[in-house]
Amino acid sequence: MSTDRTLREQIVAYGLKLTPSGLSQGTSGNLSIRSGDGFLITPSGMPYGEITVDDIVPVAMDGRYEHPRRPSSEWRFHRDIYAARPDVHAIVHAHPPYSTGLAMCRMDIPAAHYMIAVGGGDSIRCSDYYTYGTQELSDAVVRALEGRLACLMANHGMIAAGANMEQAMWRAIEVETLARQYTIALQVGKPVMLRDEEVTQVIEKFGNYGLMSKK
Ligand code: 13P
Ligand code: ZN
Repeated sequence: MSTDRTLREQIVAYGLKLTPSGLSQGTSGNLSIRSGDGFLITPSGMPYGEITVDDIVPVAMDGRYEHPRRPSSEWRFHRDIYAARPDVHAIVHAHPPYSTGLAMCRMDIPAAHYMIAVGGGDSIRCSDYYTYGTQELSDAVVRALEGRLACLMANHGMIAAGANMEQAMWRAIEVETLARQYTIALQVGKPVMLRDEEVTQVIEKFGNYGLMSKK
């Protein structure tokens, strides 16, 4: 069982990976980990390099918090994903260029590469657009994540979830890689889609593959 302190340290450490991994820049994006009856989340509008363990904000499932820092403006969708999805224990939200580029065109990522299975299904859906930080946006991303562990967010960015922070961050990087590959394929020609049974086979194999098998 991880302590609150260990989870805070994880959020700080993974926050520092966002920019070097190409997932986010500046203060865009936010990270959270389920903890006790609520979750721990990055503070709003702080550069990742400046965030310390004491800046991480504990938020209850009713949205209450008692902390000198304000929680991320996206605490609602973090809260609603944890409420809807008992399998999710960590969430990464970012604005990486290729995922966001597709999301600006309001496109899903289809099954043009077998790694589509990292999202848990045969596509990574793009949610509808709503203003950042709103309940409407939260409802839209929870819908886009149905049966999935990742989604794009129209005209905004992407979300990756996982059984732990290591897995959520791995998934976020894989989704951005897929978005990049799909963007290249669209420029080169007409991507060929995998058949349903081909995707199902990979999803089954992924049950015991690498980080996917870690709880
Ligand atoms: P916060 O700094 O409030 O987490 O906002 C960043 C963001 O990506 C909003 O969607
Ligand atoms: Zn955002």
